[in-house]
Amino acid sequence: MTSNPPSSSVPFLDLKATYFELREDLNNAYHRVMERGHFILGPELEAFENEFAKYCGARFCLGVGNGLDALTLLLRAMKIRSGDEVLVPSNTFIATWLAVSSVGAVPVPVAVKPTTYNMDPTALLKAVTPKTRAVIPVHLYGQPVEMDPILQIAREKKLMVIEDAAQAHGATYFGKRVGSLGDAAAFSFYPGKNLGCYGDGGAVVSNNEEIIHQVKLLRNYGSEKRYHHDELGINSRLDELQAAFLRIRLKVLDEWTQRRKQVARTYQEQLSGVKNLKLPTEAPGCESVWHLFVIEHPDRDGLQSYLAERGVQTLIHYPVPPHLSGAYSQQFQNKVDPEVEAISRKLLSLPMGPHLMPEQTNKVVSLVQSF
Ligand SMILES: *Cc1c(COP(=O)(O)O)cnc(C)c1O
Repeated sequence: MTSNPPSSSVPFLDLKATYFELREDLNNAYHRVMERGHFILGPELEAFENEFAKYCGARFCLGVGNGLDALTLLLRAMKIRSGDEVLVPSNTFIATWLAVSSVGAVPVPVAVKPTTYNMDPTALLKAVTPKTRAVIPVHLYGQPVEMDPILQIAREKKLMVIEDAAQAHGATYFGKRVGSLGDAAAFSFYPGKNLGCYGDGGAVVSNNEEIIHQVKLLRNYGSEKRYHHDELGINSRLDELQAAFLRIRLKVLDEWTQRRKQVARTYQEQLSGVKNLKLPTEAPGCESVWHLFVIEHPDRDGLQSYLAERGVQTLIHYPVPPHLSGAYSQQFQNKVDPEVEAISRKLLSLPMGPHLMPEQTNKVVSLVQSF
């Protein structure tokens, strides 16, 4: 059995390869948990929470069911509710917006910088109203948001800062890991993320004891003591099997990030100067973990078909910005910077991952060059 597809094709991301590389450790973890017979809120979760908090340079971590729940539970823990506004980037995965809507608050889109695709602090300041309670900067595509200007605005305007770090496990801003930069952070361990499990999973990370206490109640039926329910909680817990798998994945995360950085370096070096192509840039102090390598091309659809016909799979993040999605289009008609819509027609994500072979990267490079 081999983890690699035929050399003629390049998949966007090879998920099976993560299992093949770590097979023995993952199988041992599976047997350990099955034989222990403790499947929810047990020792694997507690160990992972400690390990991941430490990794992020934060005091606390709590495993939850998925990344969307991590965001939602943080908003609830901060008592953000109907009548409140929460600032979100106009270009992000829709989960960032859905979390805000699910607590009854209004997501208010903020334009992103055309260089980093991350939230623009100037636009952020303009979007603050007396109803604004929080801001959710998203470390999109693996690159940390330039946090200092955002934290300064948040301090002045008394806003809570929730990092959406679902795409940026281990990314650093002036040497500090994401997850420790705001009041709290939400992570996703969806299989395709840099730190992924083998099902759904997520976590909240924070230095704030009160926020963590609230999330701990809310994720478990509002209960601290069995059958005593003090809040209108939900059921959103990271199970023991996923926690055990994540402990193994966390050990190799930095090494796998280095491999992503090598792929990104090759793309940057070999594709610089290609006509009509815009390559991603890293802002000062920001080290991306390259969850995605996103380029811009005026004939994006043409380039995507050209690559697909030759066996290279690419994706678009995201083909429809949240405000144009069915869920939001009525509410947000004509309300978002048309710049975002123009950008989203040009974006293309090239194959990226820790298991991309050099010959695969080279194939992508030569095809983009010959397009
Ligand atoms: C994946 C993702 C989420 C949601 O995570 P799930 O685990 O799929 O619920 C939230 N925000 C961003 C930016 C994401 O990429």
